[in-house]
Amino acid sequence: MRVFVIGSFVIACSVKVPRLPQAGESLGGSAFRAEPGGKGFNLALAAHRLGVGVDGLFAVGADVFSPVVRSTFAQVGFPETMLVPHAGSTGAGVAFVDPAGENCLAVCLGANLALTAADVRAAADRVAAADLVAATFESPDAPIREAFALARAAGLPTLLNPSPMRRLDPAILADTTILVVNGIEATALGLGPAEALAETRRPTPAIAALLDGGLDHLVVTLGERGAVAFRPGLPPLRQPAFPVAAVDTVGAGDAFAAGLMAALLAKAPLGAALRRAAACGALATAQFGAFDAFPTAAALEAFLDGAGPDAASGDAGLSTGPTAR
Ligand code: ADP
Repeated sequence: MRVFVIGSFVIACSVKVPRLPQAGESLGGSAFRAEPGGKGFNLALAAHRLGVGVDGLFAVGADVFSPVVRSTFAQVGFPETMLVPHAGSTGAGVAFVDPAGENCLAVCLGANLALTAADVRAAADRVAAADLVAATFESPDAPIREAFALARAAGLPTLLNPSPMRRLDPAILADTTILVVNGIEATALGLGPAEALAETRRPTPAIAALLDGGLDHLVVTLGERGAVAFRPGLPPLRQPAFPVAAVDTVGAGDAFAAGLMAALLAKAPLGAALRRAAACGALATAQFGAFDAFPTAAALEAFLDGAGPDAASGDAGLSTGPTAR
């Protein structure tokens, strides 16, 4: 099993402050943390922890953070060939976190936005050698469009997590097999409020229109309310969240998408894949940050063994894994 990720990399810096600063104010912080992240990197790392082979393209800038990116990739075991040097700053973000956990932050995607279709074309053989191609909206449309077109030409499924949400390029959507969105993104897509999606018994016209465009699976994640999956011509499939003591939900969506991808690649039925994905999401919330929080395959199995049958979706394998179209 191998995925090719059109990636993004962001160094997430956070400072613990006694209260959120005001304009012009300079506060002393009690702790500083810099963690490798970014939605594309998180997806790749979470998949890798689950035992999926990972390749991909990640733009790295020309600044003080570029050696950090290289050492992080080496530490994780990702080859340097996954890094594409571009001018400008490496993706980075800064957050202030107050004692109540409230935060304010800004992220500059920097070099991530410089990734091009030509970068993808130069790696066309590697894309075609994958079993699935995945992307998030921390990458520009052009490389995603190119990679998904290559995937379609090679008969490979694709997974898109359009976060942070922007207009969905119809060409990208036409080549998307699995679309994973959270409640906010689903609402932005015109699919209705998350509360209604959690309860809906049949695809609404907006969901049906999206599925008619060629999607195999539309999966909406709803935080501690779990997730719901829509497929053409079939009733929605619901997956409750696993009850866990969540300490930090950063990375839950990335872990969920990686778990779903890994399970579908292993040819699990959709119901079982959703259960594994939800377990990955739950496990990612049980620790601070994202980097250390993504479960290994062994941790996932141990969690599922102890979770009992109640959390299962009850699906009897109605759907197969991703299919080439
Ligand atoms: P995102 O991080 O993209 O906003 P969600 O918050 O919807 O995504 O979380 C993705 C998945 O992770 C959910 O569908 C759920 O299965 C799991 N999850 C998220 N938050 C919790 C939580 N507090 N407890 C248990 N599982 C959770």
